[in-house]
Amino acid sequence: MSIIITIDGYSSCGKSTLARQLARELNYLYIDSGAMYRAITLYFLRNHVDWSVVAEVHKALDEINLHFEYNSHTGQSDMVLNDENVEALIRDMLVSEHVSEVAAIKEVREFSVAQQQKMGEKKGIVMDGRDIGTTVFPHAELKIFVTADPAVRVERRFKELIERNPNLTIEEVKNNLELRDYTDSNREFSPLRKAADAVELDNTHLTREQQLATALKWAQERIQKLG
Ligand code: C5P
Repeated sequence: MSIIITIDGYSSCGKSTLARQLARELNYLYIDSGAMYRAITLYFLRNHVDWSVVAEVHKALDEINLHFEYNSHTGQSDMVLNDENVEALIRDMLVSEHVSEVAAIKEVREFSVAQQQKMGEKKGIVMDGRDIGTTVFPHAELKIFVTADPAVRVERRFKELIERNPNLTIEEVKNNLELRDYTDSNREFSPLRKAADAVELDNTHLTREQQLATALKWAQERIQKLG
């Protein structure tokens, strides 16, 4: 019996690492919902879409086709925007600076959530994001809310980004995380919240292996319960 596992939390809490490892262990599909919001943001920026105008947002969304494609080099799924692999581009700071604003738009959320729900129709999926346990899959069998100390999150994010962005400062990373967390938690539609039935996983002092072991135990318990 396959289940749906949702992993939500603030930016750079290690959600995607956990989600990817968990999916691999269970042989489930892993979906990075944040990549979809990032790809939409990239499209808006490139095409100078004025996202304060609803008609422009509608027109742009009509032109956007998103899907994930398996990358045999990395063993992971890459985000493909209109036939272009944008996996690396969507991690740029410029996209990070605007993504929360774009993700707060009702039409953008409806567009993304509908596709995410479709991906989960057959269950056997681990999806990470901000509203997966509250809005996308409110009936998911296992909901995990990941937390970590803010200073640890900034450090992790900085290490992740510095290779590709050598001029980046730790201050910029900190400001970006704080702003995204604030925007994500305070937006009108599907704000970032811990679902009432989610289990919390604070990974500040956990290794990746310890974090995975905890989540795997929870998943196996849920799977067994369903027989
Ligand atoms: O997960 P990641 O940090 O890549 O997500 C980028 C942004 O996309 C988040 O800061 C948030 O604004 C938005 N997002 C969202 N809902 C999700 C996943 C991501 O609003 N389910």
